[in-house]
Amino acid sequence: IFSDVEEAQPIEVFHLVKVFNEDDDPSKVNLTIGAYRTDEGKPYYIPVVKKAESVVLDGTLNHEYLPILGLESFTKAASQLLLGDITQRQEEGTIFGVQSISGSGALRVGAEFLVKHLKCTTFYYSIPTWENHHLIFMTSGFQNAKTYRYWNEETRSLDFDGFCEDLSNAPENAVIILHGCAHNPTGLDPTEDQWKKIAEIIKEHKLIPFFDNAYQGFASGDLEKDAWSVRYFLSQGFEFLCSQSFAKNYGLYNERAGNLTFVLNSVENVKAVKSQVTMIVRGMYSNPPNHGARTVSTILNNDVLKNEWMNTLKLMTDRIKAMRKSLRENLENLGTIGTWNHITDQTGMFSYTGLSASHVEYLRSKYHIYMLRSGRINICGLNTNNINYVAEAITDTLLN
Ligand code: PLP
Repeated sequence: IFSDVEEAQPIEVFHLVKVFNEDDDPSKVNLTIGAYRTDEGKPYYIPVVKKAESVVLDGTLNHEYLPILGLESFTKAASQLLLGDITQRQEEGTIFGVQSISGSGALRVGAEFLVKHLKCTTFYYSIPTWENHHLIFMTSGFQNAKTYRYWNEETRSLDFDGFCEDLSNAPENAVIILHGCAHNPTGLDPTEDQWKKIAEIIKEHKLIPFFDNAYQGFASGDLEKDAWSVRYFLSQGFEFLCSQSFAKNYGLYNERAGNLTFVLNSVENVKAVKSQVTMIVRGMYSNPPNHGARTVSTILNNDVLKNEWMNTLKLMTDRIKAMRKSLRENLENLGTIGTWNHITDQTGMFSYTGLSASHVEYLRSKYHIYMLRSGRINICGLNTNNINYVAEAITDTLLN
């Protein structure tokens, strides 16, 4: 029965990690996967997460099912983290969260809901975007994948006019995937004024915003600032969806802690919407997992732990900023071909370096430095031990 199955392409980022792990060159550098690394190049088990886990694992819990829509202390706190003071809206029910299998699961459940219940057929994503958006939305039943311009290759900055023009040509009811902050892979976010314009176009053309928030805290180090775009849409009376991932900002990658927030304007619609999301989850994976969500909830619902978490986030983003600055300085001091201000203009974990696929190949074969074919690097893969090596390698690559 399996003889006609065709092999799919490997997932680039995970494939590269495998090749990297098999590479025994001592100077190898991994700038591929979107995960935080310490200055020693190690994964980071955030101390406050460890503390919260000891509370979660204190022996009082059993392994009973969570409700289909998840742990309420988690979804409520998670939606508030993103949208601010929404307790009144949560009490009346017009804003509610659905626990999800991390950010990907939130996008998947939300997308399926939009297809099934709002009859959406078309979605738009930025060029470029996180490579999984397309797969998730198509798998959810969308028929048309469309793109909006975002990255200007020449200026290595945001193509805002192109972005607006493409949104203005989108058909009514099209779903627009927006990165709340720290755009992956470019590290470029619209300014507040640009967000206002985006909101205007979305309202005028009756489009549906779907905010993807995988990096709250990682753009500026300030959770409130990083939520500005989403909160602005809320203040303008939009109805919309937001996905949240706690993989990066809690270092809970494999625990799959996420949240999907629905923002509705009418109390009358709440019951039906909730019941239909319940059916989607029930038919997809039935109930969410406990551990990651309970850990996040323990932190978000305790002021002392939450403060400690925010301080850690700030340290993590400070390290990323320091690495951006150092990479740029190194490249400029070496007289590397090109301009490098975009490295520090961008925010979040990633930098879209502007290196071509052939540069990327050269860096891998000659220097054992791994990055995505698109030239995206994870800044967290840089540290005080390898940054000179990486800068020198880029300098040489651009001469060849
Ligand atoms: N959205 C964006 C833009 C991402 O970069 C990621 C992860 O890399 C996700 C969503 C979802 O990640 P996860 O499913 O691990 O939470």
